Amino acid sequence: MKICPLYLNGDWLVSSPFEQVINPATGEAIAQVSTIDRARVAQAIADAHEAFQSWRKLTGKARGMFLRAIADEIENRSTEIARTMTLENGKPLAQSRTEIAFAVDHLHWFAEEARRAYGRIVPQQVDGKRHLIIKSPMGVVGAITPWNFPLVLAVRKAAPALAAGNTIILKPAEQTPLSAIALAECVAAAGLPKGVFQVVLGDAPEIGQEFLQNPLCRKVTFTGSTEVGRILIAGAAQTVKPLSLELGGNAPVLIFDDIDLDRAVEGALAAKTRNTGQSCIAANRVYVQRPIYEDFLEAFTARMKSLKVGDGLEKDVDIGPLIDDAGLTKALAHIEDAVARGARALCGGKRFGDKGFFIEPTVLADVPDDALCTQEETFAPVAAISVFDTEEEAIAKANDTIYGLSAYAFTADLDRAFRLAESLEAGTIGINDGVPSTSICPFGGVKQSGWGRELGSEGMDAFLETKHVSLGLQI
Ligand code: NAP
Repeated sequence: MKICPLYLNGDWLVSSPFEQVINPATGEAIAQVSTIDRARVAQAIADAHEAFQSWRKLTGKARGMFLRAIADEIENRSTEIARTMTLENGKPLAQSRTEIAFAVDHLHWFAEEARRAYGRIVPQQVDGKRHLIIKSPMGVVGAITPWNFPLVLAVRKAAPALAAGNTIILKPAEQTPLSAIALAECVAAAGLPKGVFQVVLGDAPEIGQEFLQNPLCRKVTFTGSTEVGRILIAGAAQTVKPLSLELGGNAPVLIFDDIDLDRAVEGALAAKTRNTGQSCIAANRVYVQRPIYEDFLEAFTARMKSLKVGDGLEKDVDIGPLIDDAGLTKALAHIEDAVARGARALCGGKRFGDKGFFIEPTVLADVPDDALCTQEETFAPVAAISVFDTEEEAIAKANDTIYGLSAYAFTADLDRAFRLAESLEAGTIGINDGVPSTSICPFGGVKQSGWGRELGSEGMDAFLETKHVSLGLQI
């Protein structure tokens, strides 16, 4: 079986113990990946600190050219990377290609932003002084990413961090390290100086603590569960380490009776089923206004039944496997809980096949507010649907969660659209849009969905210090 090295200070290191990478479509191991201990992570931080001394001095334009070179390498190898991503994550091949295109777009966006780390000059209010506001890179960044978008979420951290002049160490999820290693191969081929970008793997809590406690690591950026986010916040309190946190979600979808039914069905379907429902911005709760409730259930269920489930490498597959047995067990438990509380299962509800971690696309109607699938992320192609009467009720239900990453609404009423945009407590709001993410706009959560924003013109701020320089002048 293939043994994968880690990318450390410009070299490839094979190091045991090895972690197995499992194909979730088959449950079989496809590769073994090297791991390192905490002391070696500390060495990586020291190397990244050394590399920072010269990387920070490059112009933004020069750093941007490196990012473009990485993007070119990813594009050149996109067929092979898409296959790797599908093998380790399970997502349909077409969605792996879309993720790669998105990652390339992020790199191009931040290659441009690298030239725009603008400061400003503040008019003096005392004679003989001038005030400059300048932006400086922070230093070494520790990044921890999840398995659901293994390439794009790594790039979403690396591209702005590097554009801003920092160096970065990436700790990908244990389920999907191969996409991160492919990214490292592209970084190496693009000729970035050694130590500027490294990939580590090993005991996640230990690596997290090293990032938090090592004084040379100046920033930790994390995407993953709110539960681990809380652990990082507690650890960061000891060293006052700046954190960016992209955490869990529990996205509501509000469907009003003024919308064209097909448009609502297709929008909700995209928000529900992309990445086999394993997206932080996946529609988790669907609320439909009473006059169109039964029609929506019928049309939506028909579409869910039409989706092709299978190995993501097969042609025309819409729904791949869930990431692992724990993900499958959780989704089945959510279905069982909802039905026990009175929900109607309109389709699906069971494991699909007898190998890998597949589940049937499932529609649950009349799901009560206290069901697990309403309270927590189900992270599966399981649609939990219920009815509402008034706009006020819909907004109250939508906001009745500790999370606030994304929310969706489908309505033809412009006044209502603005009321919803202003009332829904979420960092990203898709109105008549089931796929709202883009490189050019900020992304992040409110409430317990996180701290800070990635992407957009805000994206580099997370990796820059703002300094005030006061000049005393004899003029
Ligand atoms: P997770 O369990 O929090 O894991 C995410 C990463 O954290 C992995 O690399 C994991 O390493 C690492 N980790 C685990 N325990 C840690 C610790 N004590 N200290 C430091 N790092 C630790 O999340 P997941 O289940 O992989 O991902 C799904 C979650 O991510 C969902 O809640 C989803 O909503 C959220 N998510 C959020 C966004 C966003 O942008 N807001 C995007 C995507 C996903 P190991 O794999 O080695 O354990």
